[in-house]
Amino acid sequence: MEKYKYIFGPVPSRRLGRSLGVDLIPYKTCTQDCVFCQLGRTPEKTLARREYVPMGEVLDELGQWLKKDGKADHITLSGSGEPTLHSRFGEVFRFVRKNSTLETVLLTNGSLFYLPEVRKEALQAHIVKISLSAWDQASYRWVNRPHPDLNFKQSIEGQKAFRNEFKGEMWIEVFLVAGMNSIPSDVAKIASLAELLKPDRIHLNTAVRPPAENFVAPLSRERLASLCNLFRPPAEVIAGYKDQGGLETRANEEAIISMLRRRPCTAGDITRAFGMHLNEASKYLGSLLRQGQIRAERAGDSVYFVATMKEQRGPYPRVNTASTSEDSKAEPPTTNRVGTRRLENER
Ligand code: SF4
Repeated sequence: MEKYKYIFGPVPSRRLGRSLGVDLIPYKTCTQDCVFCQLGRTPEKTLARREYVPMGEVLDELGQWLKKDGKADHITLSGSGEPTLHSRFGEVFRFVRKNSTLETVLLTNGSLFYLPEVRKEALQAHIVKISLSAWDQASYRWVNRPHPDLNFKQSIEGQKAFRNEFKGEMWIEVFLVAGMNSIPSDVAKIASLAELLKPDRIHLNTAVRPPAENFVAPLSRERLASLCNLFRPPAEVIAGYKDQGGLETRANEEAIISMLRRRPCTAGDITRAFGMHLNEASKYLGSLLRQGQIRAERAGDSVYFVATMKEQRGPYPRVNTASTSEDSKAEPPTTNRVGTRRLENER
């Protein structure tokens, strides 16, 4: 299996089918520090747009993948932070349009859309999904904790300007947190803003995966469903509640556990075996640890994951899945949380 540095997957996704991820940003480099972020806290918020990873190498990898495999439904700019911080992110869309018939997706928090150069690059995508979880500067501050120089109104104006030019599909994801932005009158304000962006689809999400802050609590499926009709078009609940499982999640967890039953593996072994990004592997390992289906054992500098027999299943040990020396290049070893990679419902 090819070893790629900047692309991962394709990952099965309910809304995007098989989606190949492209990660242009070092772990948790973002303009915001959302309380619900599944990647943990943003160590340092930034507005600095630059070539965080060499675009030439990213396009080489994409070219190789298109030649050797090329089977996916979408190619998605997503990953470990805000992709529009990469100064050349639009080149990925241009490259894919030129070299394949695959559709491209940009997952973004939309905070930099006040910049004409960001809007211009984003126009190249087939689908742009923007997250929107606030309705004014104050709610933006407490829910998304933006860089101090970001102005909510300015970003929304930029997103409106973008919508007027953009010919592709615009999706909006609204992330609701109990007690922060979830009372119907506040959700109605978010819905009014969303309507101005003339979205093709609206997705409602909540903190069903471990969030950056312990005080963040999810809304029940029923609460979320009761808010769908406040939106135009009506929103769709995309939060993956535990009892729903998710076919792709169960399939991936089963494949990983079946491998761990045969031999203990590090998180790095799993990423190589399944062609996953480390954060994606961490998500599945974290879930299996919480269910007590696997346990972590340290051997020298490495952490190995081992399938547990039924009688051995115990409480979830807090282990850093990125603590092998190799894996730590992809995710900071200082965090104890199990990282998750954004692909679909991560903002
Ligand atoms: S949820 Fe998205 S926008 Fe918010 S901090 Fe995490 S990566 Fe940044």
